[in-house]
Order: sequence, then C-alpha cells, then structure tokens
Amino acid sequence: MNKMITQRNELLAKEVIKGLESRNMKGYYAADREEALKIALDLIPEGSSATMGGAVSVREIGLVQALMDGNYEFIDRDAAEDKRAAMLKAYDVDFFLSSVNAMTEDGVLINIDGNANRVSAIAHGPKKVLFIVGMNKICKDVDSAMKRARNVAAPINAQRFGLQTPCSKTGSCMNCKSPDTICCQFLITRYSRHADRIHVILVNDNLGF
Ligand code: SF4
Repeated sequence: MNKMITQRNELLAKEVIKGLESRNMKGYYAADREEALKIALDLIPEGSSATMGGAVSVREIGLVQALMDGNYEFIDRDAAEDKRAAMLKAYDVDFFLSSVNAMTEDGVLINIDGNANRVSAIAHGPKKVLFIVGMNKICKDVDSAMKRARNVAAPINAQRFGLQTPCSKTGSCMNCKSPDTICCQFLITRYSRHADRIHVILVNDNLGF
C-alpha cells in the first residue's frame, strides 16, 4: 500500500476504532493482510466452530483456508449438501465471519442481504461476530455508507451471482423490486448490547468490494 495512503488509513482507523468502542464493539488495525490474519487467529481459539456468509474479504486475508487447514470446526456452507441445515447451524457457532458492505467513520456497520442469512446471523445467534474490513469500505456517515452499499457493493454482488437486476447491467442501483434483487434486508449495526461479541479488523488494503 502507498505510504501516503497508509498514513491516512492509520489515522482514520484510530477514529473508527474509537467509534466502535463507543458502540460496545472492539476494533483492531492491521497494517496488511498478513497481520489481519494473525489478529484473527489470535481471536479465534483452536477448537472453535466457525462459518461465514460468503465474504470475499475473509477469503482474501487467508482466514478461510487457515481455519480449514487448522484445528477448527469450519462449516463450509458452499460445500454442504444440505445448505439450509448449514445456514441454520450458523446461528449457534462460536464465530461468524463476515465483512461489511460499508462502514462509517464513527463505527456504524451497514449490510444488505437478499436471503438474510448473513444479516440475521450478524444481528443474533453466533457467540461472536468477526468482521474483516478493508479501509476501502470506510465512508463518512450512514448516508454515504448506504450509497456505497447500494451503488458499489450490491451491483458487483449481483454481477458476481449472475442475477437479473438492473444494477448488474448499469453498475449502479436502480432501486428495483425485481425477483432477483439482493436488497431485501438492510442491517444497520449501531450498537452491540453484548460486550465482546462484535470484533472488527480494519485492514490497510482494498478488500472485497
Ligand atoms: S435495489 Fe436492485 S438495482 Fe438496486 S442495488 Fe439492489 S438489486 Fe441492484
């Protein structure tokens, strides 16, 4: 990462972490993907059960592979024959892994979902939720974070899954109600009632989309 961008990311991450702490959530800053993986593995004790909701960022730092290779019970929803059973198991794991579609400078997390398995597990169920967030996803406020989620993250996800939505053709949100829409549920996480449940690793890199 460019030195000037790194300097800016370090400064901004301090503010984001303060914002998270004010919301009863814990934040960490990783200088690169390797450090992010180390912080994540320090947080997840061996023997823990874990799963995720399809987050590219979690794979990009090597965390999925490390959990599959290590002494952990990783529930791989994509490989499961019974996907519904695998999704239901997610509500009782030790760690649910995710990224965000966007996040504010003062620590509010924004996630959009079609099936809602991801946002529902973030909201309730898993003992802990660990977010891996590239600094490219930090936005000024809730309004700009929501715009990012709908105009950047959602169109790319719609394209990724080959969905027939207006945004997969235009690259920007058209506020559709198409049967394929992935914008069914919007989760704004502004506070965690349970201390030590939500952990966010901010990474000095562009992760996910
Ligand atoms: S509302 Fe429709 S057009 Fe807008 S981002 Fe969601 S799926 Fe795409």
